[in-house]
Amino acid sequence: MTDQTISRANLQAIDSAHHLHPFTDHKELRGAGARMIVRSEGPYIYDSEGAEILDGMAGLWCINVGYGREELARVAYDQMKELPFYNSFFRCTTPTPVLLAGKLAELAPDNVNQVFYGSSGSEANDTALKLVRHYWALEGKPSKRIVISRKTGYHGSSIAGASLSGMDGMHSQLYGAVPGIVHVMPPYSFELALPGESEHDFGLRAARAVEDAILEAGAENVAAFIGEPVLGAGGVKIPPASYWPEIQRICDKYDVLLMIDEVITGYGRTGEWFACKTFNIKPDTITTAKALTSGYQPLSALLVGDRIASTLIEKGGEFYHGYTYSGHPVACAVALKNLEIIEKEGLIERVREDTGPYLARALAERIGTHPIVGETRAIGLMAAIEIVRDKGDRSRFKGKHAGDKVRDLSIDNGFMVRAVGDTIIMSPPLIWTRENIDVACERLLKALDAAE
Ligand code: PLP
Repeated sequence: MTDQTISRANLQAIDSAHHLHPFTDHKELRGAGARMIVRSEGPYIYDSEGAEILDGMAGLWCINVGYGREELARVAYDQMKELPFYNSFFRCTTPTPVLLAGKLAELAPDNVNQVFYGSSGSEANDTALKLVRHYWALEGKPSKRIVISRKTGYHGSSIAGASLSGMDGMHSQLYGAVPGIVHVMPPYSFELALPGESEHDFGLRAARAVEDAILEAGAENVAAFIGEPVLGAGGVKIPPASYWPEIQRICDKYDVLLMIDEVITGYGRTGEWFACKTFNIKPDTITTAKALTSGYQPLSALLVGDRIASTLIEKGGEFYHGYTYSGHPVACAVALKNLEIIEKEGLIERVREDTGPYLARALAERIGTHPIVGETRAIGLMAAIEIVRDKGDRSRFKGKHAGDKVRDLSIDNGFMVRAVGDTIIMSPPLIWTRENIDVACERLLKALDAAE
C-alpha cells in the first residue's frame, strides 16, 4: 500500500462513509473513528499512528502462531498458483482438505474421525445443529430436537449461531431465533456461587441445571447439549473441576449428544490440542475454526464423532448441506502448515508446562492484589480479570462499565485486551514468552492504577 492510501485521514473517511463493522455502534464510531491496524510482527500489532501494541487477544483468539509467518504466506501462494479453488461437491475434491482431514482425525479424541469444513465458526455450528437433529431423525427419534445451551455462551452470529448463543440481544425476537434452544446458567462461580458454597458444589449445581432442563423438556425431546469447555467471549468463565464430569454423566444418562464448541479452545489454547482432553470430555461433535489456520485464512472444521458419522454414512443418503468454500484448498493448505508449526515448535507443550502456569501465577500475584481486582483466573493462555469497586463484597462500579475504561487505558499503554462488561479478558498468541507476560502485567497494572 502507498503512503497516500494508508494515510489515516483518508482511510477513516472511507471507513466512515462505507464500512459497516461487526459488533459496533456506528454512531459512536463516527465520532472517534476506528483504530487502524496496519501491520504486525510476532506478538505485536502496529497502528497507523505508529503505536506498537502487544496483542493480548491473538487477533480474535486466533493468531496462535503469531504474526508475520513467512511459511504460511508461502504455502498460500504456492497453492493459489497450483489450484486456487475447486470444490468438494459432487464426487470431487482436492488434496489439501483430504490431507487435513486425516491430520485432524489423528489429533482429535479417539472416537472422532470425520471432518466437515466451512469458513467460520458460525457455519460450523449451523452444520452441527443440523447434524444432531438429522442424526436423531435417522435413528427414528425425530422428537429429539431441543438443544440445551448456556447463558453467556457464544456460538456465532448467524441465525443458528446466535440462537445457540446465550448473549442478550443476539437472539432477540427481532431476528426470529431458531426454535427449540433452551438456555441454562453458566458455570460462573464469581457471580453465581451462593455464600459459602464450595467450587466443587457450585460446579455440580451448575451442571445439574442441564439435568433440570432435560427433565423439564422430557429426555425424549432433547437432542444435545452444546458448550464451550471454557466460556470465551462470555468472559473466560472456567468451570470448576466437578462441572464437566457431571455434564458427561447427565448426557450419558439421558442419551443426549454432547456438542463441544472449541472455536476458541481448539489447537492449543488450554495446553492440549483440544480442551476435551484438558477436561476429559467425550464429545459427539467438536466445532473448530480460528486457530486451525491461526487466522491466516478463514476456515472451520466440524469434527464429527463416530456415533453420528456412522449413522449419517450408513442411513443418511445425501446430506443436503454444504458451503461453496467447504474444504477450500488454500485455507486447508495453510491449516496443514499451521498445525505443522504448532507441532514443530512445541507451542502446546510450552503453554502447558511453562507460559500457562506462569501467566496464572503472574496474574494472581501481580494483578489480583490490585484494589479494584476481585479475581483473576487463567487456564493455558486464556485469562480473565474481574474489575470491582469493592474487593470484599465484589460490588461493581456504577454507571458505564469499568471494564471499558480499563481496556481503553490498557490499549493506550500498548497492551491489547478486551472487556466483557466488567471483566477484562485475554487470549494471547501461543508464541508468547515469560517476558511478554511480564510486559503485559506492567501495562495492565498502569491501566488499573489510572482507572481506580
Ligand atoms: N464459537 C465460539 C466459541 C466462538 O468464540 C466464536 C467466535 O468468536 C464462534 C463460535 C463463531 O465463530 P465465527 O466468528 O468464525 O463465525
